[in-house]
Amino acid sequence: MNIRSAETGHLKNSGYFARMARRVVLSSALLALVPSGGASLYLRPGIQMEINNHGQEIIIGEGSKAIQFNSTTRLDPHLDKLGKMYDLITELNTPILSWPVRKVTISDDNSGEYKIENNDHLLIAKLRTDYLETTAHEMGHAIFLVKLGGQISPRSEVDYSFAIKDRLWQKIYYLSLGKEGFMLVSDSNYHQDKSVIKCQKNGNDVTMEAKNVGHPWDNADELFASSVMTYRLHADELLETILDPGISAEKKRLGVAIWVYLRDKIFNGKYFSINDPFKGISIKDINIADEELHSVLRLLLKKDGMSCDNAFYYPLAVYYGPEVYFIGPALRENRNWIIEELVSFLKDEDPDVRKKMVSIINFLAENAPQFPGEIFEPLLQNLAIGDPVKEVRDSAKYALHWNKKWGVKYLIIDLNNPDPKVREFAAWTIKLAIELHGIDAITAGKYMPYLIRLETNDPDEKVRLVAATTLEELRRALKH
Ligand SMILES: [Zn+2]
Repeated sequence: MNIRSAETGHLKNSGYFARMARRVVLSSALLALVPSGGASLYLRPGIQMEINNHGQEIIIGEGSKAIQFNSTTRLDPHLDKLGKMYDLITELNTPILSWPVRKVTISDDNSGEYKIENNDHLLIAKLRTDYLETTAHEMGHAIFLVKLGGQISPRSEVDYSFAIKDRLWQKIYYLSLGKEGFMLVSDSNYHQDKSVIKCQKNGNDVTMEAKNVGHPWDNADELFASSVMTYRLHADELLETILDPGISAEKKRLGVAIWVYLRDKIFNGKYFSINDPFKGISIKDINIADEELHSVLRLLLKKDGMSCDNAFYYPLAVYYGPEVYFIGPALRENRNWIIEELVSFLKDEDPDVRKKMVSIINFLAENAPQFPGEIFEPLLQNLAIGDPVKEVRDSAKYALHWNKKWGVKYLIIDLNNPDPKVREFAAWTIKLAIELHGIDAITAGKYMPYLIRLETNDPDEKVRLVAATTLEELRRALKH
């Protein structure tokens, strides 16, 4: 919308006035600047604003309620949109008056982001058609940080994304991972923007067009931001989905939990639909038992992380499987609870679940600093020897051999195994490990006497040969 007035010209021509706050009265309908003889500038009756820095900074509201909009381009042609953003931000600041959002950057190339800058919230948004959805989503992040999230730590994003102050929301997040319940509040269902992703179908690379706004599966924070957006701006559509007779019981339950949580804990009883079909349900009625979370995790463990069906939902899962979204945060939340779960999955009746669990434990033992690998080592050992399914035994052996923490011990045991095939395989594994990761002098010193003995004394010719080439590799690696 254009601003037409004598003062616009004034603004362009006068350096002095450009630095000054401009005050104009705007009609709320047209947002046209009405000359008022240098008096106060109003966005509309009752809402004052300042236009600074040649229109690149606009401050709407006064005193502690002021919200500052910044850009590298002129913002004064967009006062109508900024006014609507101001209203929405002011409203969504209500739950976080102790630390409200005061700064917005309008960007041409960043469609939406929330961050902390100089200990203050900063919203970044693009003025495209969905700018209000973006505003609500990013405000959701600010509310999450103040009301549910953890400490601000520059070292770890985890502290932002975990509902450390309210386990109920964290549980709602875990629950949402089962059967893709998070799609209930996926921003993409309420936006038009699309992008292309790559995934695999029957072993072939496929490109797919996907809606690409919001990622509520990522963590409790993202689920919250998407939920706030949907609950505030698309309440009737959300209700339609929750009340659809064709929806699964799990999804319906999740939808009700999200609805009641936001209504009672964030919006002080307010709802934004024509009516509230869940007014008889209170936040006290929302209980999620740990056993239910167990079922969700089991479901995720049985899921293929590579297919086109979920490549868009779980991009990370291409590498680790969708269960990483569950296990990672759960480990940080409550070690004992999730450790017990992981132990029970190693004993699951389904060999696929056992196999997957082995590789997850291997991954965690190497990569999660707090992960108590020592609890799992004997369990993996049992599987490596006694599991009835060969694939599970092999993956457990692999996990024991290749783990940076335990590998050396198990490889040395195998170098002494009575079966020449096992000795040969262990020597060969050591060689491969050196080729891939190199080796330090201490670890090399541990292998050395055994390899020398195999090279000189082993009755099996193949073992002697592999031991010799592994020793060669080891000596070469130590020289570097
Ligand atoms: Zn987000």
